[in-house]
Amino acid sequence: MTYAIEFAGPVSLPVVESQAVFPVGRIYCVGRNYAEHAREMGHDPDREPPFFFMKPADAIVMNGARIAYPSMTKDLHHEIEMIVAIGKGGKDIPVEQALSHVFGYGVGLDMTRRDVQGEAKKMGRPWEMGKAFDESAPCTALKPVSMVGHPAKGAITLKVNGVLKQSGDLSEMIWNVPETIAYLSKMITLRAGDIIMSGTPSGVGPVQKGDRLEGHVAGVGDLSVSYS
Ligand code: MN
Repeated sequence: MTYAIEFAGPVSLPVVESQAVFPVGRIYCVGRNYAEHAREMGHDPDREPPFFFMKPADAIVMNGARIAYPSMTKDLHHEIEMIVAIGKGGKDIPVEQALSHVFGYGVGLDMTRRDVQGEAKKMGRPWEMGKAFDESAPCTALKPVSMVGHPAKGAITLKVNGVLKQSGDLSEMIWNVPETIAYLSKMITLRAGDIIMSGTPSGVGPVQKGDRLEGHVAGVGDLSVSYS
């Protein structure tokens, strides 16, 4: 097959201890999936059905990158998240079978233009320009399930310039990974190559030019990017 235009081809993520890469299809992000973060955003963390928004695959930035502070915002925020890589697609996946659709896990940042998102919320407009912009999804390499299992508890943290800003535990998710997969697969048909960003613990906050962000999910990986 040849492309009719100049095209870079699909985006991919490295896989730990493998020559093969993971081709990224769509990126689905879960909103307000930790109670403390829901509260800090001014919402009641009752167990309402999960909701989702998306980022384009080419928003992915490799671990270690130096990223330009994005345009059209004065309030870029960090949201550290565990990412779930779907290895096998499906529709109406039962909770009990959901984990068999996972290829592996990684660490990601759901970078957010909070001022743009806030304006969109106020106006009842879509979130994309607050969430789905260039370089808004720094991610680590993926650890396959064979190496990492299915992490359901363990620390998830983010430091800015060495200072701890976000700290939570995977067990605090309102909708855990199998429940999220099951619910999402009722809304859309999941495909191999899809990524789920599973939500962020409390402590989200602003990023300035010159900041270094270090994210960690116990057993899963370490993510480090800086802004200039
Ligand atoms: Mn998020």
